[in-house]
Amino acid sequence: MTDIHIRTEGHAGRITLNRPKALNALTYDMCLAIEDALWAWRDSNDVQLILIDAIGDKAFCAGGDIAEMYATGTAGDFAFGQRFWRDEYRMNALIAEYPKPVVSFLQGFTMGGGVGVGCHGSHRIVGERSKIAMPECGIGLIPDVGGSYLLAKAPRRLGEYLGLTGARMGPADALLAGFADLFIPETHWEAAKSVLIDSGDPSVLPTFTQSAPDGTLAEQQPQIDQLFAGEALRDVLNALQRDEDDFAASALKALSRNAPLSMACSLEILHRLRQGTPTIRKALELEYRFTHRAMEHGDFLEGIRAAIIDKDRQPKWQHDLDGVPAIDMSRMLQPLRGVRLSFERKERGMKIAFIGLGNMGGPMATNLIKAGHDLTGFDVAGTSVDGATPAASAAEAAKGADVVITMLPNGAILRSVADEVIPAMAPGAVLLDCSTVDVESARAVADQAAAAGLGALDAPVSGGVGGAAAGTLTFMVGGTEEAFAKAKPLFDIMGQKAVHCGAAGSGQAAKICNNMILGVTMIATCEAFALADKLGLAREAMFDVVSTSSGASWSMNTYCPAPGVGPTSPADNDYQPGFAAELMLKDLGLSQEAAEAVDADTPLGKAAHDLYRHFVEDEGGKGRDFSAMLPRFESRSRS
Ligand code: NAD
Repeated sequence: MTDIHIRTEGHAGRITLNRPKALNALTYDMCLAIEDALWAWRDSNDVQLILIDAIGDKAFCAGGDIAEMYATGTAGDFAFGQRFWRDEYRMNALIAEYPKPVVSFLQGFTMGGGVGVGCHGSHRIVGERSKIAMPECGIGLIPDVGGSYLLAKAPRRLGEYLGLTGARMGPADALLAGFADLFIPETHWEAAKSVLIDSGDPSVLPTFTQSAPDGTLAEQQPQIDQLFAGEALRDVLNALQRDEDDFAASALKALSRNAPLSMACSLEILHRLRQGTPTIRKALELEYRFTHRAMEHGDFLEGIRAAIIDKDRQPKWQHDLDGVPAIDMSRMLQPLRGVRLSFERKERGMKIAFIGLGNMGGPMATNLIKAGHDLTGFDVAGTSVDGATPAASAAEAAKGADVVITMLPNGAILRSVADEVIPAMAPGAVLLDCSTVDVESARAVADQAAAAGLGALDAPVSGGVGGAAAGTLTFMVGGTEEAFAKAKPLFDIMGQKAVHCGAAGSGQAAKICNNMILGVTMIATCEAFALADKLGLAREAMFDVVSTSSGASWSMNTYCPAPGVGPTSPADNDYQPGFAAELMLKDLGLSQEAAEAVDADTPLGKAAHDLYRHFVEDEGGKGRDFSAMLPRFESRSRS
């Protein structure tokens, strides 16, 4: 990769950031490359220390590359950013906990994402022109990448001051605040690097160090401790407003520019971290609660728009400076349901066969390849994906694979592919089917695999094509514990949640039960809107009441079928499918088949199936979103 230069030199594993024109802003791929290199060197006898530096005079690294986050986030896709942060934070923790010395040379700007790479190592070197800052509150974020950990450990109230104002630290200030360890004049850096590479021993560094030119924080500290001691943002503001000194006035000015919600949450994070002993993992977990929600519920997209896209520097924050209700802060920082920030090493280098490289399978396979797996692909349509080794048949792809993944249209096709691949698979390998199919087919394939000494999992997904591309699918998994454990690292790459639901077939059972509820609630929501219309009730009023009353459901609250009402949904795009009516018909058909097989009474599931069948087959519903039931009801009368 040209954006980052990774190699070993002498006794050092060396990582050089190489995007000087972009102030070495950190891309997603650079984060993954750093993580890979650190794992590769962790147990290598040849590498005794890690040296991290950057090309160019202006910056070690001025932050994360947020352009793609903005582009995807404004299109309503929050998953790319969530994945970026998740994987970046794992790399930050790896640096902080690395068992070998990590030496970084921090010239010029080191901000945000750059702090995450450069300021968690064991020997952080600053020079005359170093400028370190955590300015995230200015773009509607919080000090993240483990920045809150460093701020929480800074002496007394420096952390609050630096985090809320985003003030820049020169070399002496960075040493005082605990963002750096050693000052070495920049003219000596190349010599210091050579000695490190030759010796592999950071104890040589003191021969190069000098005392840093004076900073400003030491003198300001007593005032900072007094002004930033408050429990909440409002207390800090009161203290700043009461103080007539120039320093207080300039701090207040900085706070007036930043996002109030971000500052309130930053303060809360620092206080929570100090309740016990701050740790990097605790800090990253708290930060991720905020950043995971930052695009959808925070001010992040508006912050980027004002600072980087339109450059008008006039962000319209959600709250006034002194008007952040405690409930809004708690919402941003409450635990994430079902989403876990994992610090485990991402398993790489499995041999995977991927069969069915369509709308879902293609991007899922791509994510596995990007994560470093060796993937052979096959699709009857001849489709392939970059980086996959093409195979001439499903059986050829499956030979010697640790895991064979299938992503196919239906149960009949799954059974025929299973007949072909199972005899070709190596003993102990796992057949992982991610398609949505009938429970019977899933169980039959699992039995067939078990008889051949293989593991088998049915793991249908939710999250659609967007989730497949972003690696944020949810997997509902049936099969043995052992097979689940083997596939877990792959679920972690392709998705953000995998629920082990029970024995073979349980994943499909969960999927079809969920989608039966979805089909029924969508119909109920649509017919209620049509009735409300005829009763003269405004749709907005209907939404406001139901979405916060006992009639609430995902169909109403998240995917509202009425155009222009509630959050953006396919209804606002003329019912172009997010989830097509014919796919809902297929899933309702699967739940009816299953109900038939086990003699379960599902009258509403049956009614929903009948309605979607008419809609798709006779009423022009094919190719429309499944929420287009609303215009269908609207156009009908009781008879
Ligand atoms: P798709 O039609 O785009 O992909 C299926 C692929 O399987 C096609 O490329 C096809 O050529 C290939 N195929 C068919 N028979 C084959 C065979 N014998 N051997 C090898 N390849 C074969 O469908 P998709 O949207 O990717 O959906 C795949 C599965 O995921 C379906 O079961 C679907 O219900 C489920 N699913 C889809 C979505 C979605 O939003 N698209 C969401 C959740 C679940």
